Amino acid sequence: MCIATWATAERIMARNRREPSGPGAGAGFNNVQPDPSRVGGVTEAPFVRLPDPAALFAGRAERLRVLAEGHPLGDYLRFLAGVVDAQAGAVVALPTPAPLSAARLALSAEHGMPPLGGQPLRGNADFAGVLAWMLDHMDLPGAPEAAQAAQAAVRAMPEEERAALASGITEGAYPLDRMAEALFVAAALQVHLSRLAAQLDGTAVQPSADGVCPACGGVPVSSMVVGWTQASKARYCACSLCGTLWNHVRIKCTACGSTDGIAYYTIEDGSKTVGVETCAACRSYIKHMQQHEDAGLDPVADDVATYALDLLAREQDFRRSGINPLFLTG
Ligand SMILES: [Zn+2]
Ligand SMILES: [Zn+2]
Repeated sequence: MCIATWATAERIMARNRREPSGPGAGAGFNNVQPDPSRVGGVTEAPFVRLPDPAALFAGRAERLRVLAEGHPLGDYLRFLAGVVDAQAGAVVALPTPAPLSAARLALSAEHGMPPLGGQPLRGNADFAGVLAWMLDHMDLPGAPEAAQAAQAAVRAMPEEERAALASGITEGAYPLDRMAEALFVAAALQVHLSRLAAQLDGTAVQPSADGVCPACGGVPVSSMVVGWTQASKARYCACSLCGTLWNHVRIKCTACGSTDGIAYYTIEDGSKTVGVETCAACRSYIKHMQQHEDAGLDPVADDVATYALDLLAREQDFRRSGINPLFLTG
């Protein structure tokens, strides 16, 4: 699956490649100057926006199908739409998990830790139930062969092994030799954590370290300038696991916190609403979406659909700081 994806993406990259458009610009990259007037001054922005799991997954599945039309990665995007359909279905079909206890919330607040972080997944009936339900209800007729084999492999996995894989994912450990299996486990984890995050008190969620979700401790998948808050053009990181959005200062690296050497690039002749923010200090990059200009942008779906940006950023020796559990490319 990965090999086919890379090959397809290479074609996109070749199609989009252009000569450098200015000093410091890489092949195919347009350097976009940040607007200083948009920095800071967004004190009215709520710190977090907790997910609404039903709307999140239903909207994402729809977005994936829209993006798949005429896209070189169309088959993969449609396959993901089937996975996300199962996520949306699980949210509707399964009882809502019990919220975190007051004692647990108090303990995490006392230690400044994300309340959903470090949860034991072994023996967790809600997580196990979500994964089992999804495996039984996923309709993936056109899925890549490797994905179908992975689905069968996860089906055959003992529950303890599924939980161990999920625990590793919460710590950012995606096993290179089991990336396809990890996709299904991570998809169930997204459902499990988003339903718990939805029950938190958003006003009580405290900032964590740079690049760490304050609700679950996950890393961002991408970041967005949003239009839904009264604080116009505030920037949020989108959690790769629980779907929480948290406010992050603009023109500041989400990985190392540096405010020096930040640059923005889009692809010439490509989307102007999805680009990358690169950091010269730690050589990382993250997708940066202008959701205030296109409300349909989804932090996970549009990240996959703009894979050509990843290839170009890597060509410039930047490493990806965000993780997309539905598109693990190594
Ligand atoms: Zn999270
Ligand atoms: Zn950095």
